[in-house]
Amino acid sequence: MNTQLSLGEFHRFAAAHEDFLYLAPSAAVFRLDGAASAVITELERGPLPGEELVRRLAAQFPAEELAETIAELRRVRAIATPAPAATSGRPAIPKVPLTTLVLNVTNQCNLSCTYCYEYGEDKIVNTENGRQPKFMSEQTARESVDFLLDASAGIALPHLTFFGGETLLNFPVVQSTVAYARRRAAELGKDIDFSLTTNATLLRPEVIEFLVDNRIGVTISMDGPRELQDRFRVFANGAGSYDTVIPKIRELLRRHTSRPIGARVTLTSQTLDIRKIYRHLHDEIGFWEVGFAPVTTSPGREYAISGDGFDSMLGQFRDLAADFLEAALANRHHGFSNVKDTIEEIHKGMSKAYPCGAGLGLLGVATDGDLGLCHRFAGSDAHKLGDVRNGIDSLVQIGLLEKHHIDHKTDCRECWARPLCAGGCYHEAHTRYGDTSHANLHYCEWIRGWTATCLEIYGEIAVKNPEYLQQFA
Ligand code: SF4
Ligand code: SF4
Repeated sequence: MNTQLSLGEFHRFAAAHEDFLYLAPSAAVFRLDGAASAVITELERGPLPGEELVRRLAAQFPAEELAETIAELRRVRAIATPAPAATSGRPAIPKVPLTTLVLNVTNQCNLSCTYCYEYGEDKIVNTENGRQPKFMSEQTARESVDFLLDASAGIALPHLTFFGGETLLNFPVVQSTVAYARRRAAELGKDIDFSLTTNATLLRPEVIEFLVDNRIGVTISMDGPRELQDRFRVFANGAGSYDTVIPKIRELLRRHTSRPIGARVTLTSQTLDIRKIYRHLHDEIGFWEVGFAPVTTSPGREYAISGDGFDSMLGQFRDLAADFLEAALANRHHGFSNVKDTIEEIHKGMSKAYPCGAGLGLLGVATDGDLGLCHRFAGSDAHKLGDVRNGIDSLVQIGLLEKHHIDHKTDCRECWARPLCAGGCYHEAHTRYGDTSHANLHYCEWIRGWTATCLEIYGEIAVKNPEYLQQFA
């Protein structure tokens, strides 16, 4: 009982007049009662021998209750326990089957969005004069399906996602691939889930018909009202795309009602008006969900978000998250997907060794069938993990997973937000630091601020409307 006690690794937060800890080692949310709260507060002043801690709190709580509380806090590692004996130093690589294959059916696009990672100043793959074909052939797409069905053995519902460039520039291959995948999956007694990302410029009636008939999930890349959409999402002649896409999106939303349709917004320093964008896309246009991501770019670009921009983005995310909370407490839908996705991860106790599924449960396929870390790296020789004909090069994959493991990210190892962040997107890191395994330290404050907000929202919901969280069970 007289061991020296000190704090473990956690983030303490308050919600609904309750006191909580988010425990970094286990990614669990722990509600503190009065005694636990007092113990943590006392230890926040500095480490103490157990007996001294009990003596200091003896006037407020019976000794037995304090002893039980301290034991419980040690058990959940809110109070530090001696570090486990050092192991071999090599992180354990999880065995994860492939669940999602993202097919870049073309690397060409009919828009010339200034900030685009495929065409803009920060591109990785030479899509104009490189060795990759501009369009995926029907044969390569079929081989990709065979590869997915084989590599996802044991997975009840593998996902096939069509991506670009502008995906619908290769609509014939999307069509034939869906038919082929359905047939092959049925032969194996499986089902397969399809989704597609598009800039909406090519959503002709027959395309919409096809998406509806095949229940294909659709995400539209779009930046908001006309003045924001047309700032960067332009045709080659500089003309904005808003007036082209809006009638097509309205028709898609009218017809395609069997699956929620989402918008995916790229935020830049010049288009950072989150509530306005959300209201336009969700309330006025009718998207079910709207997800926001800051543009991936090297820091010198005029549209890059930095310093003050991240502060402003966080403030605006918090405002919109407050609307989300109000809706969740009233069991109403709210389409701000960033907060919903994060509270789902918190509820599931997600503790990530890697920031995302790239290279693990998710792979990208280039137009020639090369496998890449994810769709953003598809076609990059430096990030190749095999090809759909010969399968994953497991030596390359293991090397890559070892290199990218959270244990190797020195700055992240002591960060309380690591269970949800794990260093951030590889593509962002590649663009900022020239190294996919570098932690994205330029946005730590933003990540921790946003994670703290989502934890508070989670705590409020857990106390005031716990039934809401059942959808994530
Ligand atoms: S990148 Fe920053 S916020 Fe993310 S886990 Fe690492 S140190 Fe934490
Ligand atoms: S590496 Fe980045 S772009 Fe690729 S799947 Fe992960 S988060 Fe997404």
